[in-house]
Amino acid sequence: MSSATLSIDLDAIAANWRALDRMTDPATQTGAVVKADAYGLGADRIARALAGAGARRFFVAVAEEGAVVRKALGPGPQISVFSGHMAGDTDMIRDLDLTPMLNSVDQLTRHMETLSGHPFGIQLDTGMNRLGMEADEWAAVAGIVMQAGPELLMSHLACADEPDHAMNAQQLATFEDLTRGTGIPRSLSATGGILLGPDYHFELTRPGVGLYGGLPFEAARPAVRLSLPVIQTREVLAGETVGYGNTWTAEIDSTIATVSAGYADGVFRVLGNNATLWAGDVPCPVVGRVSMDLITADVTHLNEVPDTLDLLGPHQTIDDLGTAAGTIGYEILTSLGARYQRRYAGGGA
Ligand SMILES: *Cc1c(COP(=O)(O)O)cnc(C)c1O
Repeated sequence: MSSATLSIDLDAIAANWRALDRMTDPATQTGAVVKADAYGLGADRIARALAGAGARRFFVAVAEEGAVVRKALGPGPQISVFSGHMAGDTDMIRDLDLTPMLNSVDQLTRHMETLSGHPFGIQLDTGMNRLGMEADEWAAVAGIVMQAGPELLMSHLACADEPDHAMNAQQLATFEDLTRGTGIPRSLSATGGILLGPDYHFELTRPGVGLYGGLPFEAARPAVRLSLPVIQTREVLAGETVGYGNTWTAEIDSTIATVSAGYADGVFRVLGNNATLWAGDVPCPVVGRVSMDLITADVTHLNEVPDTLDLLGPHQTIDDLGTAAGTIGYEILTSLGARYQRRYAGGGA
């Protein structure tokens, strides 16, 4: 067995959902964002674990992802689609009972013409300028929409991970202006917005990354461990080099472990000479470049080289690795490779 193992702790993910749920008023529902295959961790298993924890509303990016989640959950839980009602999605939306978040008058028209009476929500743009109807568009169709009875009015914060950013209050005010007095359930906050406090909670929240142990939810339980098998160890003499391009030279006689994972598995090349693997509690620096399938680490200081070295685990979170790679935990998670053996623990796994 030389492929790496990605261990996913479903109990930690369920606990993170409950912790985020407790941060809001009991009348505020807590949804769960499982787009991008639940941030790379496996939408089917994770949706089921979250449903077990009490989640009833799930969000995906595109209708095809909704199909996976519906298959995992069966009828009942609501599955909303951020990209709305795209041409070609009509059959899926109807047959799988998905709830599109309509983003434009075009999408609204398509929905009314093809699936009149089928549940939908409306996504409003409050300044991020990514998805959703603009204020004037909304003003033009709000009457028609209200007659049809949307399930949800939602928007998305651009700067929620920066609590002091003026954009937060500005978007909040705009969202309130656009939705005041509608009596329709509203949702503004993802993980970051939940942490901004009750003004931002409305009737439904939509956490994603916090469920999976990522910032800005600092109190999150880590949910993943990535263990890379050691394929070979070798002695390298002082002055010898390791890896492509000879980018690392041994200063002293050294022991080098070669482990199974590389940039084809989402271990970004920028982590060459710039990341740490862990032998239990002991750090082992990555030396030399990251190859497509292999990474080399300096294990000279270990008394015994273990069978695996961890890239993600208790000593190195997705955000730690993100920082080392010049990115964010979200990108680390969603880049986790298809070659890893995914092992699930907890959650009745
Ligand atoms: C991805 C996404 C979320 C979840 O965001 P996190 O920061 O991962 O909690 C919520 N709402 C929308 C519209 C999104 O695109």
